[in-house]
Amino acid sequence: MTTSSSPMLVRADALDASDPLHAYRDLFIGVDDPSVSAYLDGNSLGRPTKASAERINSFVTQAWGGRLIRGWNEEWYELPITIGDILAAAALGAAAGQTTIGDSTTVLLYKLARGALQMRPGRSEIVVDRDNFPTDRYVLESIAGELGLTLRWIESDRRGGVSVDDLLTVVSDRTALVVLSHVSYRSGHLLDAAAVARFTHEAGAILLLDLCHSVGSVPLELDTWGVDLAVGCTYKYLNGGPGSPAFAYVRTEHQHEFVQPIWGWMGRDNPFAMAQGYEPAPGIRRVISGTPSILGMIALQDTLALIEEVGMAAVRAKSIALTEYALELVRELLIPLGVEIGSPEDSAERGGHIIIDHPRFEAVIERLWNRGVIPDFRAPQGLRLGLSPLSTSFREVCVGIGVIRDELTD
Ligand SMILES: *Cc1c(COP(=O)(O)O)cnc(C)c1O
Repeated sequence: MTTSSSPMLVRADALDASDPLHAYRDLFIGVDDPSVSAYLDGNSLGRPTKASAERINSFVTQAWGGRLIRGWNEEWYELPITIGDILAAAALGAAAGQTTIGDSTTVLLYKLARGALQMRPGRSEIVVDRDNFPTDRYVLESIAGELGLTLRWIESDRRGGVSVDDLLTVVSDRTALVVLSHVSYRSGHLLDAAAVARFTHEAGAILLLDLCHSVGSVPLELDTWGVDLAVGCTYKYLNGGPGSPAFAYVRTEHQHEFVQPIWGWMGRDNPFAMAQGYEPAPGIRRVISGTPSILGMIALQDTLALIEEVGMAAVRAKSIALTEYALELVRELLIPLGVEIGSPEDSAERGGHIIIDHPRFEAVIERLWNRGVIPDFRAPQGLRLGLSPLSTSFREVCVGIGVIRDELTD
């Protein structure tokens, strides 16, 4: 950092000192590692908590090592739904019995989209936007090919996202399913989910929301908004660890008619009867196919406990303060160097990350990582700054943007 940044660091430290969530940062592993001065990618892979290290260790030595196969009877069989209910209460705004943990987001998108289409026979179109996350687009392209359906694309604004206005021209009485991300992985745009759900239902279609970039960062009210189906990651803001399983939400009123296409024994009614023929289990359990990854869902419980303790309103307040501060520094230090802001500037329309564009970002990303400043690069020329509310300090934002400035001026 150059000397002119010092007053900036003083200000960053003052913001940390008055941040009511600042002390929670010490609950994470690696925050005092001097080789990482700014971790700005908590939206791609959240940091582990210290509690998770203990929980995983004790799971291996006591639960797995001690209970052995008995663990399935005692706890593990129900664990995907037990943790799903905790997640639903802490972060989804959903009543119990509608959420389960398992698979990956990609696989759950497939299962839920196929299940939704089965609920709208005779309708032939799926609506999705061009700037939705690649896996969402690919899964839907595959399903459309498989079932002979048509994808109706929303040509969304890369710097913004999808609005109800965008739906007016593509949603019709042919629409079976609308699939959108709640927070855009690129721009950070925050969808008006309640309005979109209302509009989708007026057309008689089903709404499937991807919550990967919102869960644990933006308060969700799935039950109140009327969302039909949802999926999301647990390794981003929920700090479940690399490749930790995803979650699925199926609204209670749809569960009796919802059947997903990967029929496995673990989602069958009374699986240990080993009976002939598939009968979906009652309730949310029918989303499960094979044996769920119990080890994979251990760590996310610690972040859910933190969210339960502080509440999503406090998490969102910190998240807004972090992105507002980052944008303020971008305007002051980077706009004069030709950087452009690719995210909504109104915090009410923005999730927990921002993206900034410059033709040289691809060339500098490796040097930033080598200097311990870790955002991620999103083609063609975006640097995405993900500010995980429980583990990111204002000082990290200040140091990170200062180093980006240095690299652009070198
Ligand atoms: C991260 C992310 C995914 C990832 O899906 P995986 O199956 O876990 O690889 C999907 N959708 C969105 C919107 C994401 O941000």
